[in-house]
Order: sequence, then structure tokens, then C-alpha cells
Amino acid sequence: MEQLKYLAIETINKRASDLSDISRQIWENPELAYKEFAAHELLTTFLEKEGFNVSKKTPLETSFIARYGNSEGLKIGILCEYDALPGVGHACGHNLIAEAGIGAALGIQSVLKSQEEHAIAQLIVYGTPAEEGGGGKAMMIEKGAFDEVGICMMCHPCPAEVPIPRCLALAQLTILFHGKTSHAAAAPWEGINALDAAVACYNKLSMLRQQIKPDARLHAIIVDGGKKPNIITERAEMDVYIRELTEKDALLLKKKVQNCAKGAAVATGCEVEMKETEPFYSAVKTNKTLIDLYMNNAKSLGVVFNELTVLRGSTDMGNVSQIKPSIHPFFKIACESSNHTQAFTTASIQPENQQPTLNSAKSMAMTAVDVLCNQKLVAQIKKDFNNS
Ligand SMILES: [Zn+2]
Ligand SMILES: [Zn+2]
Repeated sequence: MEQLKYLAIETINKRASDLSDISRQIWENPELAYKEFAAHELLTTFLEKEGFNVSKKTPLETSFIARYGNSEGLKIGILCEYDALPGVGHACGHNLIAEAGIGAALGIQSVLKSQEEHAIAQLIVYGTPAEEGGGGKAMMIEKGAFDEVGICMMCHPCPAEVPIPRCLALAQLTILFHGKTSHAAAAPWEGINALDAAVACYNKLSMLRQQIKPDARLHAIIVDGGKKPNIITERAEMDVYIRELTEKDALLLKKKVQNCAKGAAVATGCEVEMKETEPFYSAVKTNKTLIDLYMNNAKSLGVVFNELTVLRGSTDMGNVSQIKPSIHPFFKIACESSNHTQAFTTASIQPENQQPTLNSAKSMAMTAVDVLCNQKLVAQIKKDFNNS
């Protein structure tokens, strides 16, 4: 087993410049959710050249599924993300996620190759678009893309080493208030002010925030507040993010948010319309056995874990983790600021952050070796999944 791990590590080391090249190309051309055409082309072409059986544009326009190995055995899924954020480029470092995913894939592939006909597993690389809004993985799940896979792994950069993140369930709500225009000076009493409804709703949400659980998060913006001060606002629009530890709590909190909107509508005389514009993101369920293996492998490479760090956010990897045993560790890159900042964009291209990315790739590949060499672990992983 140690020899196979060594083989995976050596393979990743040898391909370090190809891997950093992939990451750089994605970083230099940031593409938004569902528009990741260049990244899709880059990654699928690369995997094809490496001998993977690649289904491009499957099942979505910018997603892909690439397979290698014996389809009879355990199917190990490695996930890549590659979408950027509006205005700030790769401020979530998804270029590094793609790099780590491809790196892990090359490492695992070398192990399967070394076993030739005795290989008892298949590696499946998933290209998953639109994590930053759009819920690419949720859409892929709907189309059955993950039905066949046994276990799933992906990793994500952040300013700390957080193997078991507290990724919250997330519901995204758009609230529309409909009022009536009128001249704001000549006849304001004839108008129904939709902006007032939005402001009232925003204030109610701020009050509600005091009553929510410590892990819950509630944030909102007013996207449309009217056209001109001298026209009473006819239409106002808000976007609200509702995050909770569990799906059940998220749905409960959503109800309370909806009541705030209804109250604001009644108070101002507006009509209110509410819709969920994005797929629901589930909380991440980290598989205990898999993450223990990952952490031991990472430690063997010199990675230090600070167990105290709590990281909150949401990801559509949560949806995958609810249906298949999964891990989504955050690995530490050198950056003073959190994700989604200009500083993180800069950090995501720094040469010094290549090593942690490759360490995470190696740790995933070594974890796959652990699972391939010990069938008992597969049973334990399934047991953990069913019991949590
Ligand atoms: Zn992000
Ligand atoms: Zn991200």
C-alpha cells in the first residue's frame, strides 16, 4: 500500500508544472456560472490526452464526466470546480480546486494503471460548474450524474486548514414587492411605495437576526429600489440568503423570512411575490472514516491541522454529500483575507500556494489508495454514511 501511495505522490510531483499550468489558465480567464466554456474545454481535452474516457458537456453544457479503469469495481469520484465570481475573478480559488482534482486524478490513475487487469476500481472525474450560484451539482444530481459513484472527494482552498467545515444548508429567496407609481411631490398619497416595503422587510430581517441560532446566517440586499426619487417606487426586489445547520432549520427560518415580507407588504399596502431562484444547497455531511484517512495522509505530508477553526459557508457539494459518502476538506493557502476578496484572488495564483494545493491532491489520491487496498474500509465508510 505504501508503495502505491508513493507512486501516486511521485506522479503528482512529476506533473506539477502541467497542473499549475491548468490552474493558471483557468485563473487568467475567469468565467462565471454556467459560462465556463474555456475551463470545460481545457480540462476535458487534458483528461482525454491522459487516456480518460471523457463525456464532454455531460449532463450540462459546461459539466463533464471522465472515467478511467474497470467499471465493475468501486467507483471513486473526484470533483473539480472552475467557476469564478463576478467582478473579483477567482476569489474563491476554484482554479486550485480544478488543479487539485486533476492532480488527484492523475495520482489515482497511475495506481490503477500499475494494477492493470487486476484494477478493481473506476475513477470518475466530475467537472462541476456553477458552484457560486446556480447549483451545478444539484442540477447534475437531478440528472442522475452521481447515481453510479461510490464515494466522492473534493477539496477547497481557504486561509485555514478545515477538514470538517460547517457548510450550512442554504435557501435563496427573491422577494418582489409590487406597489403603484405616483408623483412623489404632487400626489404621493396616490402611490403605493414598494421601496418602503423592501426597507421595512430589511429592518424586520435585521430584528429577526437576533432571534436566530448561533450557526444560522441571514443576509439580504435590495436589488431594485426604484427608478427616480420623484416617482413613488412601483417595484422593489430583494435577494435573501437563509443559512442553517440543517435543511429542516433552514426551511423553518425561511418561513419566518417569508412572514417578514408578508408583514412589510401588509404595512405598506403592497403585493408580495416570493420565489426560490436558485437550487437549495444542502449542508455538508463529512464522512468520518474518509476524512480520518485524508487527514492522516495529509499529516504524513507535513500538513498541520488546527482543529479550532470553524468555517461557515455553503456549497452544492453539500447536496452530493447527502446522497454519497463524501469529504470536502478546506486546505490552507497563504492569504490574510477570507475567500471572496480581491486578496484571495491574488493568493490563488501565487507560486507559494501550489504546494498546499498539491498536498491536498496527494492526500485525496492516498485516501483512494487506502480505500482500494482495504475493502473493510468501504464497509465502514458506508456504515458511517448510513448512521449520520
Ligand atoms: Zn465561494
Ligand atoms: Zn468556492
